[in-house]
Amino acid sequence: METDGRVNGSARHEVREHDVLIIGAGGAGLRAAIEASERGLSVGVVSKSLLGKAHTVMAEGGIAASVGNVDPDDNWQEHFMDTMKSGKFLNNWRMAEIFAKEAPERVIELEQWGALFNRTSEGKISQRAFGGHSHDRLCHIGDRTGLEMIRTLQEKVLSMDTMVYMETTVTKLFKKDGRVVGALAYTRDTGRFIHFKAKALIMATGGWGRIYKVTSNSWEGNGDGAILAYDAGAELVDMEMVQFHPTGMVWPPGVRGILVTEGVRGEGGVLRNSEGERYMENHDPEKMELSTRDVVARANFTEVQEGRGSEHGGVYLDITHLGYNGIMKKLPTMYEQFLKLADIDISKEPMEVFPTIHYTMGGIKVEAETGATNVPGLFAAGECAGGLHGANRLGGNSLSDLLVFGRRAGEGAAGYVRSNNYSTEIEANEIEDAKLQMLEPLERPESDDNENPFMIQKDLQAAMMDHANMMRIEESLQEGLEKVLALKDRLPNVRVQGSTLFNPGWHAAQDVYYMIQVSEIILRCALERKEQRGAQWRLDYEGQDEELGKVNIIVKKDQQGEVSIEKREITPMPEHLVELFGEEEMVGDQADAGAAG
Ligand SMILES: Cc1cc2nc3c(=O)[nH]c(=O)nc-3n(C[C@H](O)[C@H](O)[C@H](O)COP(=O)(O)OP(=O)(O)OC[C@H]3O[C@@H](n4cnc5c(N)ncnc54)[C@H](O)[C@@H]3O)c2cc1C
Repeated sequence: METDGRVNGSARHEVREHDVLIIGAGGAGLRAAIEASERGLSVGVVSKSLLGKAHTVMAEGGIAASVGNVDPDDNWQEHFMDTMKSGKFLNNWRMAEIFAKEAPERVIELEQWGALFNRTSEGKISQRAFGGHSHDRLCHIGDRTGLEMIRTLQEKVLSMDTMVYMETTVTKLFKKDGRVVGALAYTRDTGRFIHFKAKALIMATGGWGRIYKVTSNSWEGNGDGAILAYDAGAELVDMEMVQFHPTGMVWPPGVRGILVTEGVRGEGGVLRNSEGERYMENHDPEKMELSTRDVVARANFTEVQEGRGSEHGGVYLDITHLGYNGIMKKLPTMYEQFLKLADIDISKEPMEVFPTIHYTMGGIKVEAETGATNVPGLFAAGECAGGLHGANRLGGNSLSDLLVFGRRAGEGAAGYVRSNNYSTEIEANEIEDAKLQMLEPLERPESDDNENPFMIQKDLQAAMMDHANMMRIEESLQEGLEKVLALKDRLPNVRVQGSTLFNPGWHAAQDVYYMIQVSEIILRCALERKEQRGAQWRLDYEGQDEELGKVNIIVKKDQQGEVSIEKREITPMPEHLVELFGEEEMVGDQADAGAAG
């Protein structure tokens, strides 16, 4: 049933029904779709962009998995320990254990489905070094790993009986008797509404880097999934943990924030300041450029702060030792990116780089085995889910996260559907209310109080940049929170012109709600975590706080609709995992974390 792009009153909607509805068509969503479809269920995948887009396609450096092709000493235990140490032990250890054990199987499976990896001389999947990984562990396809991964998953999905709804945005989850039973969505071209009925929903909507002005993320990363889940009663975990990737482009201004893959450092790239000094010697003399991202990002930031920055306010990253042929073999995208966007030939001169907002470690709290949230019928996987990475994610650990936990969420949702047989019908007025709420910005009368959603977005991105950046202190976080709450107060006045047809202003009016809500939560959690741990770099507190190291910060929407925060004790690691670490290793790595900056 088509709508007429009308503005006044409610519009018509069509109804679609699936056993499992997956929101998001990045790596996590597609892997979940394959699993649920293979189990014989009717599966729908909704994506607000075209199939084959999503952040997953942008991934460059590789997928971390201990297949041991280059370094036979590698194994799941080492990968587990690296992941926990990098996450400063805030990680959900059970997720980290499952992840490290299952990642190799998922990568091999991807290869069997047709992914063409770079090869070792013996014809095995090639692996490269990456920051914080104690072995050469990243399986890769040059620096276009995400492209090959999504192409492979997409072809697999299309060969199955799965419905894909492209350029369709979900704006509300429906519940009945405490369970999630469907969602409302609109098509981005005509604004046609769709009511999806489903017994289980999997959120796979990615992160929220776009709440900051300088980011490696695309327009899709606004935090929709985390906030849709939060509004439906789901708990979020460790939302203060936002990753600043050490190397984003700096110059010219229009490209600021675009990622320079860690693969450059993995292939031997060297960081220097304006004095030519290889300053990582002062920050992590053992691992140097291959230290974890939080440490390298702080080092780059500090060099610039202390006046040893490059011409355009970054630091230098030099890969010239590889020469043109080596670069074209290992890092062709980086070569083209710098040549086309910055007129720099990286085989001859160094790049200028500076930290860029890249990834969100916090997210929807899930059960490790199944991806289930605390709301029956609602599951989550991929970057929008929290827990696996703790206070800092290792490079390459996201792509394998998508495969391992995408599969598990698909399996978990399928099992849930099979054992729960109930109606997904809801009252008609619930659907009408949700549609009317969506149409409000179009129908709001013109007045002096009207707000432009793009202006609110811009102010929000500036506020987050100024107050919830890498370096955090109480006063500034508090000021940021006040700014964000003031922006929240302006939301009811958002007005957009035109109709639901091809209207980016109308889409922005919805996005800005998620962006503001997720920003408020990040600031409130950052105020609570009064220590330096991983990505949380509180300059007004020294080092790590032992007690805070034992808790996750859990957020939930309370009865009044406000953000409620709880410090919840982390279940102690079982003996078989504890004994993998020496006592010193567990304490030592945590102690390092704050000191590095
Ligand atoms: C430039 C770049 C390079 C990277 N390189 C690497 C790397 O080398 N290795 C690594 O491990 N990680 C890397 N990462 C991180 C990794 O790519 C991401 O964390 C990962 O791809 C996220 O996958 P996802 O499936 O969770 O979400 P995404 O791939 O972000 O997909 C989210 C999906 O949800 C959809 N969506 C969002 N909101 C809605 C809504 N309301 N309604 C409907 N659909 C919605 C989007 O349209 C999209 O389809 C990189 C990230 C970037 C940005």
